[in-house]
Amino acid sequence: MKIEINPNFPIKNCKTCGTRPVIEQTKDRWIILCPNPNCRNAVSDKLVNVTEWNKQNP
Ligand SMILES: [Zn+2]
Repeated sequence: MKIEINPNFPIKNCKTCGTRPVIEQTKDRWIILCPNPNCRNAVSDKLVNVTEWNKQNP
């Protein structure tokens, strides 16, 4: 299930397509990912790692 990030929350868009990322929760991971599967752009961690996402999508 994909969760939209609050529009007021500052986070970088996908560096490939410019789309705002969404969040997905699995059993033990939080994933920030571009909703466009062609980008294969995701950061998976035990917590929502916005710092890493922003680093990878400057
Ligand atoms: Zn993208």
